[in-house]
Amino acid sequence: MAKTRELIGPHVELMLDCWMSLDLEFAVRLTERLRPYSLKWLEDCLVPEDFQGFAEMRKRVPWQTLATGEHWYTPLPFLSAVSGRVVDYLQPDIQFVGGLTAMVKICHIAEAAGIGVLPHCGVNDAYGQHTCIAMPNVPMGEFFVNTAPGIPLNEGYRWTPGMAVPEDGFLVPNDAPGFGIELTLDDIERAVS
Ligand SMILES: [Mg+2]
Repeated sequence: MAKTRELIGPHVELMLDCWMSLDLEFAVRLTERLRPYSLKWLEDCLVPEDFQGFAEMRKRVPWQTLATGEHWYTPLPFLSAVSGRVVDYLQPDIQFVGGLTAMVKICHIAEAAGIGVLPHCGVNDAYGQHTCIAMPNVPMGEFFVNTAPGIPLNEGYRWTPGMAVPEDGFLVPNDAPGFGIELTLDDIERAVS
């Protein structure tokens, strides 16, 4: 983290995804050690159902912004998290949580409480892209780049035809009807063969 902060300078946002791998004591100590690097948020530091653990994090490291939610599978845990102010950012995944209908409910619940939503892999599919652009409390879109550094996005990622591609960190969704997907039968046959 120290090396990364040095590399990107003080004005680029830096976050850490712990992928549910820490217990409370470890998460607290890690957060204290990472404080000099000014994390925008600490992601999934605990098991996602551990609401009391997140509340403890709030007490013990109150200055650290927390994010979670990619492993909650209906709007209900998001409602509980917002009611209890368990975390600062919610991270629903449109493909896990119930589609655009569920995402809109979650965004509205969060917006009413002044909480931001950072959809998990929100820019990796056309459905998430439209959610990110349409919901006022989504400040940025996550794009999971599963390729080695230096590979252009349109070479290294399997894009659905018609889906917009980020350029220099910005993305404008396709405004064609629906989600703008332009799949043909040939594309589907190629994908399943
Ligand atoms: Mg994550």
